[in-house]
Amino acid sequence: MSGSLLVDNIGELVTNGAGEGPLGIRRNAAVLVEEGRVVWVGPSAYAPAADHHVDAGGAAVLPGFVDSHAHLVFAGDRATEFAARMAGQPYTGGGIRTTVGATRAATDEELRLTVRRLRGEALRQGTTTMEIKSGYGLTVADEARSLRIAAETSTETTFLGAHVVPAEYADRPDDYVGLVCGPMLAAAAPYAKWIDVFCERGAFDVDHARAILACGQAAGLGVRLHANQLGPGPGVRLGVELDAASVDHCTHLSDADMDALAGTAHSDGSGTRTVATLLPGAEFSTRSPYPDARRLLDAGVTVALATDCNPGSSYTSSMPFCVALAVREMRMTPAEAVWAATAGGARALRRDDIGVLTPGARADLVVLDAPSYLHLAYRPGVPLIRQVIRNGVPQ
Ligand SMILES: [Zn+2]
Repeated sequence: MSGSLLVDNIGELVTNGAGEGPLGIRRNAAVLVEEGRVVWVGPSAYAPAADHHVDAGGAAVLPGFVDSHAHLVFAGDRATEFAARMAGQPYTGGGIRTTVGATRAATDEELRLTVRRLRGEALRQGTTTMEIKSGYGLTVADEARSLRIAAETSTETTFLGAHVVPAEYADRPDDYVGLVCGPMLAAAAPYAKWIDVFCERGAFDVDHARAILACGQAAGLGVRLHANQLGPGPGVRLGVELDAASVDHCTHLSDADMDALAGTAHSDGSGTRTVATLLPGAEFSTRSPYPDARRLLDAGVTVALATDCNPGSSYTSSMPFCVALAVREMRMTPAEAVWAATAGGARALRRDDIGVLTPGARADLVVLDAPSYLHLAYRPGVPLIRQVIRNGVPQ
């Protein structure tokens, strides 16, 4: 779309910048967009003219959701495993290998269609930025193609060759770590921005995780990791040690983990350098206790919310659902949850051009079918996303 775009008659604009309260709210506002960027935010009555026009009709507008944790490159589903879990079987992460088998057997086109389907699903629910991980190939060729396909859809791509040790390496995990750090990383790095490890009992221990993440860092990738999901462990502290942008899950945190995260606080009071990304869809879908978001927030740790969209432990692409869970189950206020799902996700990706609606930001806007962001938690399960504008283009 060429020319400028004005979104006006916004009853409640969430800017995550200057304005009322923690969300920087402005009332009766308008946003002017040029060349994919926000260039002006102000009172609707004083809005400049533009080539194109969207009338928000008094509704709420917020920054597009930033989903900083998703596993979209896979084949098959695990509905039967979900049903068994709901009938009482515990989640162990072992089902990942089922998806690895299906993913290896799939064609590029099948994988591509799944990524596009899920990305489209998320976009319709207001997600304008979505991180995508590999991690169901676990061979040099399958990890490289997973990332190549992911990179067609997102610039936020993450190499997760260390998701689990594949069955063929079950009795020689050191050899698998060598493969991940060597030829697999070399093949994956051209398509990846980040490296991630599932640091958990039954997946990768702290020494293997440190070795893999250090190799990724040396190859120019940023660090993020899955940590402290299924039980207590050293993952979060490893993340802090390696200056991870985000440690994800954080369901079981010790006082030492809390201190480590809080210790990454920026001196200007703008939160922590390492973000705690909470993934309540996983606790919902595995019927597990939720992370203690209040404890993190009260300690000054920056919190993000993401879907963890994957076929095993959290098959949802809905950020509004995660916001509702965060409010109802993790005692976050609606404002904290909406911030975590937008600006928080941006922090988890070390981005300052998304998750905010201030001049200079990318023009990613969501128009709600509601007068306030409060409705995202107040009306769970209801399709409240009326319109999505991504990069300045109405979708
Ligand atoms: Zn995950």
